[in-house]
Amino acid sequence: GYTGIMSSHGSTVKVYIRIRPTASFAHELIECLPDQQTLRVRSRKGSKKGKRNNHVRLFQLNGVLYNVSQEDLYDRVARSVVLGAFKGYNGTIMCFGQTGAGKTYTMTGAAETYKQRGIIPRAIQEVFQEVEQRADYTFSVHLSFLEIYNETMVDLLSSLKQGKAPGSGLFTVVEEPGGGVSVKGLSVHLVHNEEEALNLLFEGEMNRIIGEHALNKHSSRSHCIFTIHIESRSRTLSEAKYITSKLNLVDLAGSERLSKTGSEGQVQMEAMYINKSLSFLEQVILALADSRREHVPFRQSKLTHALKDSLGGNCNTVLVANIYGDASQIEETLSTLRFATRMK
Ligand code: ADP
Ligand code: MG
Repeated sequence: GYTGIMSSHGSTVKVYIRIRPTASFAHELIECLPDQQTLRVRSRKGSKKGKRNNHVRLFQLNGVLYNVSQEDLYDRVARSVVLGAFKGYNGTIMCFGQTGAGKTYTMTGAAETYKQRGIIPRAIQEVFQEVEQRADYTFSVHLSFLEIYNETMVDLLSSLKQGKAPGSGLFTVVEEPGGGVSVKGLSVHLVHNEEEALNLLFEGEMNRIIGEHALNKHSSRSHCIFTIHIESRSRTLSEAKYITSKLNLVDLAGSERLSKTGSEGQVQMEAMYINKSLSFLEQVILALADSRREHVPFRQSKLTHALKDSLGGNCNTVLVANIYGDASQIEETLSTLRFATRMK
């Protein structure tokens, strides 16, 4: 068997910025340069009593997306990753940023309208389109939907149905002989067409919301990994050429910093887990990019461990950093941009 997994280092992550269009966009603070890859950000520090200290910073990325439709966004950042899976390359697309900046809109889309479908429904459509066009292969497509909340893994496609409390902690990431990883205990569902796949996506989204109420948590406090597993076998080649690959579509937990006052208990705990896992994600990406590094610390968090075979090496990795363009959010925006630039 041949899989898309190789452990060579030296990966690069493609990093895009998507700016949420709002009426109060601060054009005087945030400017996209004509190369469409650079953001110039001014922040007003020390603006007390007249003396205004303008800090100007430039952030260079693989693309800045402002007023870009869902369709164009998919074409620019996701399509090649999805098609790569048909050549055996694992892929990961992640949305990062503060709560409200547009991660879920980018990943899943707005439920109301077809036009505003996000990356996941479009990826599903493209996968089945490819499956139909490639008559010389037989395919099987499976889905899984994993939520990670405070380092506990939740199966969004079965744990609730089985009557188990979400987060019963039965799942573990296991490393397979060929270098792949899987989540033991996580349900994986065979789907035959786009409609079946979309139904599971919506079921998972519903379960995410139900679990949210049950645990009194916010969906913005957890990471969600929607995975499309693609297996194909050539019908024509006599030797059974067998390809497996995975596409991970990840809606990361909100990256915002807590204000020190008023946060305690559960909220503080959630924030601690999120900070840790996002910084472990960064450490992994940086280690993968550094060819001198022998050891990549995948096992420090469930998120990076579960994505171990789909980051770096022979994988296509894309990060979409979602930001507000509003002056009131400029500090979080800067923090998101710094994270995004370090990942590039
Ligand atoms: P997050 O998941 O990062 O917390 P959401 O995706 O839920 O943020 O976005 C917050 C709100 O803003 C939602 O109502 C969403 O539909 C809207 N929104 C976000 N990004 C865009 C965009 N690019 N175009 C139009 N509406 C958007
Ligand atoms: Mg969200």
